[in-house]
Amino acid sequence: MHEGSIAQGVLDVAARALASRPAARRVTRINLVIGVLAGIDGECLRFYLQELSRDTPVFGAAVEIASRSATLTCRSCGAEQAYDGAGDFALHCSRCGGENELAGGDELYVESVEVEDEQDQGDRGDPQR
Ligand SMILES: [Zn+2]
Repeated sequence: MHEGSIAQGVLDVAARALASRPAARRVTRINLVIGVLAGIDGECLRFYLQELSRDTPVFGAAVEIASRSATLTCRSCGAEQAYDGAGDFALHCSRCGGENELAGGDELYVESVEVEDEQDQGDRGDPQR
């Protein structure tokens, strides 16, 4: 996958979030979830997000990237362990020696988009939301 096209997709989501709030002026934060096996370079994605959002209300938004590990599940006893994507994963269960199955870790999605409303300007302590 290319970070550039992913960044465009993320920006589309952010633009829709902004459009759904008539009073919103700009996007302040984008919370992303990226699995360890998604093959996405977070820093590269940040770069594209910044470059592609120039002259849009998304420019300057903070980009938070939460990593999601994959899960190894034993086919014999069901024991689970997390796999962070670094190095080789255990082919066999550490408990019973059964065969492990790798799942997850390939997710990539926008968890949430935070926007700033017109009335929020200069009044960040305002509890109305
Ligand atoms: Zn097992």
